[in-house]
Amino acid sequence: MANEIIVEPDLQFTKDLIKAGATDLKKCYQCATCSVACRVSPDNSPYPRKEMIWAQWGLKDRLLNDPDVWLCHQCNDCSTLCPRGAYPADVLKAIRKMLIQKLSWPSFMGSLVGESSMAVLALGIPILVVLLMTYFSNGFTFSSPAPVHYGQFISYIPIQVIYTLALIFAVVSMVFSLKNYWTMLDKNNPPTAQEPRKGFVPSLIEALKEILPHSTFKDCEANYIRYVAHFMVFWGMIGLFVTTAIVAFNIDILSLAPPSRGGPGTIPIKILGNVSAIAFVAGLAIMLVRRLGSPEQAGNSSYFDWFFLWIIFGTGLTGLITELSRWAGSVSGAYFFYMVHLMFVLALLLYLPFSKFAHLGYRTIAIAWGKSVGRKMTVPVVPNFAPPIRAEEPEAAKEATV
Ligand code: SF4
Ligand code: SF4
Repeated sequence: MANEIIVEPDLQFTKDLIKAGATDLKKCYQCATCSVACRVSPDNSPYPRKEMIWAQWGLKDRLLNDPDVWLCHQCNDCSTLCPRGAYPADVLKAIRKMLIQKLSWPSFMGSLVGESSMAVLALGIPILVVLLMTYFSNGFTFSSPAPVHYGQFISYIPIQVIYTLALIFAVVSMVFSLKNYWTMLDKNNPPTAQEPRKGFVPSLIEALKEILPHSTFKDCEANYIRYVAHFMVFWGMIGLFVTTAIVAFNIDILSLAPPSRGGPGTIPIKILGNVSAIAFVAGLAIMLVRRLGSPEQAGNSSYFDWFFLWIIFGTGLTGLITELSRWAGSVSGAYFFYMVHLMFVLALLLYLPFSKFAHLGYRTIAIAWGKSVGRKMTVPVVPNFAPPIRAEEPEAAKEATV
């Protein structure tokens, strides 16, 4: 007799998934079009069809321990072609959100960032901190003679202390959560490949070779523009991070003047910063416009998506406006937008490991884990599907046994 398989459904988990954005989950009738359509799903045990049935059955443990949900790049090819409008890409996205919340450390931060009812508190913390720094630095004096001198508007010392602590907090939380995730994958997914298991570092290097050029993402068809936007945001963010690190090193360690006052090496730093900011803001603008204007292709957006997107967009935009205000000779404008920019940057740092941004870490770990156990992604030759015409309730749905 075949081994018994005990299925322990958690129907509350299914309800939570629906609340987290998998609103059309129950429409799936297991036709598997999505798994065939996905260009980055492995031949062996492909996704997202299996995740759809696990989600309908409330198999929480299987879903939260499934690295495949992170191999998905949210290109929405599968959602575009699903004949039932079940939006499998949104289901995978909702599972990822729930995993980020489950592994958040400290755990209350997951709720603070992921729940709309906590929005006022989540946004209020960075706003209050920056208002206090401004008040104690200059008592809210925005007008002063040119040139702009940010250090006189808000002292650099509290900025250095608070932002360094926020960065340390974000890094420690992220590392801790990712370490738990790797352990969880190891414990709950015994490797099946015949090849010997690879170590963490070589697997990570292999994963980064795929992630940095977005080579897998590029293979998704229906939403190619999303790949372009993601590429711009990804590299724009890295450019901005490098710029900030160089400026902070120059000011804090070498005691040089900041770029705004013509410190050494100013031109290349400014070029790097401005080009990165333009790529970053333009990529995000594409993402936002597509989400607002074309949910059919971009997928449904939840509060979790919007929270991250607006914070990251606000960071890039206020940074750019601050720089433009300074160029235009508006001292008060530069100071005002600098203050707002600092609020966005603090929110970004504090909430990095608990927001959608954390996908960068989780996806890297899941891809590296897949490499370590020999889970191979294939790019199949996909039939030239045309997007289906969806009937409200096709006949076949009535026969679905799920
Ligand atoms: S109905 Fe849609 S989500 Fe379900 S298996 Fe078919 S294509 Fe995938
Ligand atoms: S969204 Fe794209 S990558 Fe993700 S499962 Fe669907 S087709 Fe595959």
